[in-house]
Amino acid sequence: MDAGPALGRREVHEQEEEVRPESEAAASLAPPRHVAVPYDISVGGSFSKRVGLVRYVRLTVAAWVALLDKNHTLTSASASSKTSTVMAESPQPTLTWSAQFSVSSTRSEGLPGDKILLPPSALEALLSASSNLAAETARSELPAYDPYNSATYSAYRKAESQYQDQRQQLPYPLTFRLVNPQNGRVVYAGIREFSAEEGEAVLSPFLQQTLGLEVQHGTREEPMVVDEDDDGPTNGVHAPTITVHIKQLPKGTFVKLRPLEAGYDPEDWKALLEQHLRQNYTTLTNGEVLAIPGGRGIGGKKKEFRFLVDGFKPETDGICIVDTDLEVDIEALNEEQARETLKQIAEKMTRAPGTDQGSSAGGELDIFKVQQGQVIPGEYVDYQLSAWDKGQTLELELSGEEDTDDMDLLVSPLSATQRAKPRLDEHKFADFDGRPRKRIRLQPTNVELENAEALYVSVYAFAPVNVQTNGNADGQENESRPRQFTLRARHPNPDEETDSAAAQNTEAPPNEGDVRCKNCGQWVPQRTLMLHENFCLRNNVLCPKGCGQVFQKRSPAFEQHWHCPHDTAYGDSSPSHQKHDALYHPPDVLRCSECATQETFASIPALAQHRTTTCPAKLFLCRFCHLVVPQEGDPDGPNAEAMLSGMTPHELADGARTTECHLCNKIVRLRDMETHLKNHDLDRYSRPPPIPCRNVNCGRTLDVCSKNGDTRAGTRMGQGSGNDIGLCSVCYGPLYVSMYDPEGKALRRRIERRYLQQLVTGCGKGWCRDEFCKTGRKTLGLEGSVGTKEALPMIKPFLEGLTKGDGATPLHFCVDEKSQKQRTLAVMLAAEDGPMVKGGYGLEWCIGALEAANGELDGARQWLKNWAPARADKKR
Ligand SMILES: [Zn+2]
Ligand SMILES: [Zn+2]
Ligand SMILES: [Zn+2]
Ligand SMILES: [Zn+2]
Ligand SMILES: [Zn+2]
Ligand SMILES: [Zn+2]
Ligand SMILES: [Zn+2]
Ligand SMILES: [Zn+2]
Repeated sequence: MDAGPALGRREVHEQEEEVRPESEAAASLAPPRHVAVPYDISVGGSFSKRVGLVRYVRLTVAAWVALLDKNHTLTSASASSKTSTVMAESPQPTLTWSAQFSVSSTRSEGLPGDKILLPPSALEALLSASSNLAAETARSELPAYDPYNSATYSAYRKAESQYQDQRQQLPYPLTFRLVNPQNGRVVYAGIREFSAEEGEAVLSPFLQQTLGLEVQHGTREEPMVVDEDDDGPTNGVHAPTITVHIKQLPKGTFVKLRPLEAGYDPEDWKALLEQHLRQNYTTLTNGEVLAIPGGRGIGGKKKEFRFLVDGFKPETDGICIVDTDLEVDIEALNEEQARETLKQIAEKMTRAPGTDQGSSAGGELDIFKVQQGQVIPGEYVDYQLSAWDKGQTLELELSGEEDTDDMDLLVSPLSATQRAKPRLDEHKFADFDGRPRKRIRLQPTNVELENAEALYVSVYAFAPVNVQTNGNADGQENESRPRQFTLRARHPNPDEETDSAAAQNTEAPPNEGDVRCKNCGQWVPQRTLMLHENFCLRNNVLCPKGCGQVFQKRSPAFEQHWHCPHDTAYGDSSPSHQKHDALYHPPDVLRCSECATQETFASIPALAQHRTTTCPAKLFLCRFCHLVVPQEGDPDGPNAEAMLSGMTPHELADGARTTECHLCNKIVRLRDMETHLKNHDLDRYSRPPPIPCRNVNCGRTLDVCSKNGDTRAGTRMGQGSGNDIGLCSVCYGPLYVSMYDPEGKALRRRIERRYLQQLVTGCGKGWCRDEFCKTGRKTLGLEGSVGTKEALPMIKPFLEGLTKGDGATPLHFCVDEKSQKQRTLAVMLAAEDGPMVKGGYGLEWCIGALEAANGELDGARQWLKNWAPARADKKR
C-alpha cells in the first residue's frame, strides 16, 4: 500500500493556475473549428432531432458512501438529501481542494465513461475541507455576539447545529476538474470510488483520451499503439501526472450533440444515448467527443457512434448530468453531412422490414401455415411460435428458393430465463450447415422447452464481412438482394422419419437382380453393370472424404465441394465454406462484448452458449421486480448461493429487499415471501374453526374472532363465553345464575321464562326477526299471537335439547340489531357458491369473518380469503 511513488499526493497551490491561466485552458475546451452551419429544413425535412428527456438516477453514491460508512458517520440518506439544499444556497463559499496525482494504468479498462478512482486519502482531505467550510459558513452567518440579546444566543445554537449537520457532508455528486499540465487540456469527471493506490489516480480510457494522456498498459497482451512522438514519455518510466480539483458543476438541462459521421438515424440513438449516458457519465465537458457503443457486428465487435459535445444550457464549459432532466438535441455537423444522412435514412426506408426491397416483417408463426418471406444478408427476420403441442416433437424447417446455403435458422425459447430474440451470437438452437434445407428438431423432453411461453424463430442471411464494410462496390448489388425463403413449423409424423431412413438403407433392389454400382451407388441391372461402371468410373467421382455424394468429375460442383479439415462439416459452395470458417474458425478468439469475462471463445456457437447461460448481461425476467433485466454476477466465479437457490445474482440481491407481509405485517425478505405465504396457507388448514353462538339470531362467536385471523382471540384474552351451553357472553349475560346450580335447573327455568316472555309479550324492537318473539313474528309476517298455552309445547324441544348437552339444538333469543344483521349476512355469504357447488366458505367461518370485520362485508370476504379454508380446500 505505502509504496509511495516519487510523485506523492501534494497540495497544489496557485502557481499551477498561474502557468495555465483559466482563459487558456478554456480555449483548449472550445470545439474544434468546423463549419457548424445550423441545418436548414429546405433539404427535405429536419434532421435535428429532440431526443427526449433523460432522468438520471443516483448511481455512484452507494459506492463511496459505503466506503465512508466504515470510518465516518455519514449515511447515504443525509449525504444525498441535505447537501442538495446546502448547494442550492449559492452565495456560500464553495468547497475547494486540489492535488496532483500520477496516472496509473492498472484498472482503467474497467472504468466506464468519465469515472476516476482516487486514493482514500483524497476522501479524507475532502471531508476535512468540507468540515472547515462548514465551520466558516456557520460563523459567517452569525450576528456579533451580544450577551444581552437572547436572539444572538439562539442564532449561535442554530449555527452550531447547522455546522454539525454540514461538517461531514460532501456535495453530491462529487465532480472534479482534471487538468493535464503537459498540454493544458481539461476535462470534468465523476468519482467511482476512493480506492486507488496512494498518490495515484486511475482514469477511464475516455478521460485519458480526452486529456491526451498516453499511459503504459502493462496488463494487456496487445501492444500499445503509440503515436510516434520523440518528446513524449513513451517509455512509461515516468507515469504522466494530472492535477485534480474539486469542482461543483451546474446541473445541465440541455446539451447539443453533433455526430462526427453521417448516416445516423436519430431514431436509433435515443435509447442508446439515454442508457449510455445514464450508466456511465456524471459530467459532460464541452468540446469532448463521446463514443457511444452501438449495434454489434459479428463476434461482438462493437460499432461506435461518435458525437461532439457542442454547447450546454446553462452555458458553461461543463455540466453535471446526474439528477437532472437533460434534454438532448442532435444536430448535423454541417449541411453536407445532414444531406448525406437524409439520403441514407431515405435509402434505409426503402429497405425497411416489410417493404419490397427489405426483409420480411416476421411475426406470428403457425403450425398449420407455411410462411414465405425474404431476408437481406446481415439481417434477421423474427418469428414467434406461440402454440404447439408440447407433447410432440416439433420440427422447424427453413428452405430457400434456389441455392441458399447462406441462410440460417436460429431458435431460442421465450421463458423466464431466456428473453432475447435469437441472434448469431446469442441463441439456443441453430442449424448452420452448408445445406439448402435447414432443420431443427425439438423433442418434447428438451429441458430448454420447459416453461417456455413461446419459441422465437429467426431467419438470418449470412453476410460476408466484405459486404458489411464495403461502400458502393458493384458486387454488392447482388450480395444485398433479399433472399427468398420458406419457413414451416410442424409436428412430424413419428413413422415418417423411420420410413425415410429405412428407404435409404434398404438393401432390396428396386428390380429383381439389380446390383449397386460401387462408385455412384445406383442400382443397375446386373447385365449392364460392366458398361455402367466403365462409364461411371470415367465420369463420376465419389467424394473421397466420405460424405457419400457423387459428383461429375471436373464439374464446378465438385471443385466447390469442401470438407472442413477441423471437423465433420462439409458443403457445396465456397460462400458456405467462408461462412463455416467465419462461424466456427474465426481468425481471432472471440470475447463477449457484453461482459468482462476473461473467457475467450473459439467459435460463434461457443459465444452464443455463453451469452445464453453464464453471461452477466443475459436478460431474464426477475421474479421480484418483474422486469426484464440482466442476470448480473461474475461470469468467471459463479456464485454458489445463486446456484444453490436457483436464483440469478440479480434476484439474490433484489430478493434481499424486504417488504411487509400483508397478512401478518411481519417484515419479510422478498425471496422468503413465497415460503412465508405458504406457511400462512398451512395455517389456514390447521386453524380451529370459529364456534358460532348457539343462538340462531346471534352473529357472535364464542371465542371472538380477531382481525388477524385468530379464531380464539377472546378466550385467549380471558374474554370467553363464560358458560358451557354454547351461548356467547352477550347472549348468556341475562341468563346468568349466581346461585349453585350443578344440574342447570335454575338456568333451564330462566331460559323457559325468557322464551315465554318473548313469545307472549315480545321484545318490542323494530328490527327483531326472531320467530320466537311476538315482535319478531309480526315483522316476519307469521300468524297471530301466541298464548302461554301454545307457547309451552313450542319451547319444549329446546329445553330438552339443552338437557342433552350436545349443543345440537338451537336457541332463539332476541339480540341487538348489529348482531342480528351480521348473522343474516353470514348466512347469505355462506350460501354464495354454497355447499352445492362445493365452493365458498362454511357458515361458521362466515360468522367469524363478519365478526372480525365488524359487520363489514368486503372486509369479511378479505378475511375469509386470508384466513379461512375454503370448502374446496378442506376436501383435499
Ligand atoms: Zn455408378
Ligand atoms: Zn464430400
Ligand atoms: Zn470446421
Ligand atoms: Zn458475456
Ligand atoms: Zn429484480
Ligand atoms: Zn405473514
Ligand atoms: Zn350470542
Ligand atoms: Zn324479539
